[in-house]
Amino acid sequence: MELKRMLAEDIALARLAAGVETVWINPGRVPFARAELPFGRDAVADAAARLERFAPLIRTLFPETGDGIIESPLTEIPAMGSRLGCGRLFLKRDSDLAVAGSVKARGGIYEVLKHSETLALEAGLLTGYHDDYTRLAAPDARAFFARRKVQVGSTGNLGVSIGIMSAALGYQAVVHMSADAKQWKKDYLRAHGVTVVEYAGDYGRAVEQGRAESDADPMSYFVDDENSKDLFFGYAVAADRLARQLAAANVAVDGGHPLFVYIPCGVGGAPGGIAFGLKLLYGDNVHVFFVEPTQAPCMLLGLATGLHNAVCVQDAGLTGLTHADGLAVGRPSGFVGRLMAPLLSGEMTVADGRLYDYLRALWDSQGIFIEPSACAAFQGAAAAVTAPEMADYARENGLDITQVTHIAWATGGALVPQEQRQAFLQTVLPV
Ligand SMILES: *Cc1c(COP(=O)(O)O)cnc(C)c1O
Repeated sequence: MELKRMLAEDIALARLAAGVETVWINPGRVPFARAELPFGRDAVADAAARLERFAPLIRTLFPETGDGIIESPLTEIPAMGSRLGCGRLFLKRDSDLAVAGSVKARGGIYEVLKHSETLALEAGLLTGYHDDYTRLAAPDARAFFARRKVQVGSTGNLGVSIGIMSAALGYQAVVHMSADAKQWKKDYLRAHGVTVVEYAGDYGRAVEQGRAESDADPMSYFVDDENSKDLFFGYAVAADRLARQLAAANVAVDGGHPLFVYIPCGVGGAPGGIAFGLKLLYGDNVHVFFVEPTQAPCMLLGLATGLHNAVCVQDAGLTGLTHADGLAVGRPSGFVGRLMAPLLSGEMTVADGRLYDYLRALWDSQGIFIEPSACAAFQGAAAAVTAPEMADYARENGLDITQVTHIAWATGGALVPQEQRQAFLQTVLPV
């Protein structure tokens, strides 16, 4: 069988199938100027402009956002950098994004807003892009949304983002959750008026059921985590904002000062969108690596075999089970995988036990808490200076590793309840 042969013959794939940590350098990456891309900067600019239009409404619904632009800080974390031995290290703190407490505040909220804008323009609730978007918080608009549903399948954080935003606009929000979703996330959603449907099976099953239910209802909209372009563009907007933060911190990104970015990956939408935005902006001067759990490396499997969403981690003999609930995905997005194939620098996989070690290290060294899934990012920064594959990568690309600025993308954490944080801080698993 073809897959079996690939798993045996490729070193990184053999390690992946054995469930041990690995570093994979993408042989399919091409110089950015030669990458064939289905869309460009205008698609991302369109999403950014839409978020600007909605800012007054967001400020009305969520005063904690200040100016109504949901954005996270970029924090240099030198003590963590010296623990990892990687040099200049920053934390992009999407863990602290308002409303959803995770990276999903980017794509998820954007998609709900885009859908709402479309409906509101059709119905005459908005007269055009220049209208006052706070009108969507008025009783007639709320009543309009209340007759409609927004549904999504989620391992947790996407459900929180879509659910909270949809409910805030007045929609009936329904989140279909997989068995590995954390109880506190279900409780949190229910407390915000969101209907949570639980499934015994995995994420794929929750998505399938949610989609079927939504498709049967003409008043319902289903957010498709695997294929949604809107989610993707919502994530991609992060890049321009990060660029402004880097400039403000006097961090140069150019041929002599490469940027290495490590992003935890589940189905691929969030890291893919962010990576796409970054490549549009920085081209060959940014090197993006995804990080996945050793038991759920679906994107790596899809990319390295070229099979994308035609393969799942169970086909490679893995369980798909991981403590990193935000990354517990067995089958990657084919749309994102194909888009990343010429752009992504590589991937690392990480054992669950190491996530808790990173979680403690960040807490002890910097006093910052992020959730286990988000801690996967540190595996990239650690590998950058320890993995032979990364030394080869630097040499082949003519990069001086001492001049690299590293960014660990902290994808979630703010909403984790206190007792749960304590439990995470005390969790020790064999690596
Ligand atoms: C969803 C999520 C990711 C990955 O996003 P995908 O779009 O599924 O790849 C990473 N970290 C956290 C905390 C998440 O919730």
